Amino acid sequence: MRVTVDPNLCQSHGQCVFAAPDVFSFDEDDYPVHDANPSDAYAEHVRTAVSMCPVRAITIEARGPRGAA
Ligand code: SF4
Repeated sequence: MRVTVDPNLCQSHGQCVFAAPDVFSFDEDDYPVHDANPSDAYAEHVRTAVSMCPVRAITIEARGPRGAA
């Protein structure tokens, strides 16, 4: 899956970090960063992060048929 966070919407609430800590984390300045191409094993956690983000800044796309999306 491919994960995108809109920096114009994100307000650093951090709900995504709690929902999917293997994909989202805080950098040294407490700004959220994420793995843009996480394993599908984390898909459920990422979907939870999408639903928990209060400003709907996170979008996900499935990978293409050969893993390129
Ligand atoms: S939950 Fe949404 S607003 Fe909060 S840090 Fe994550 S992407 Fe940004």
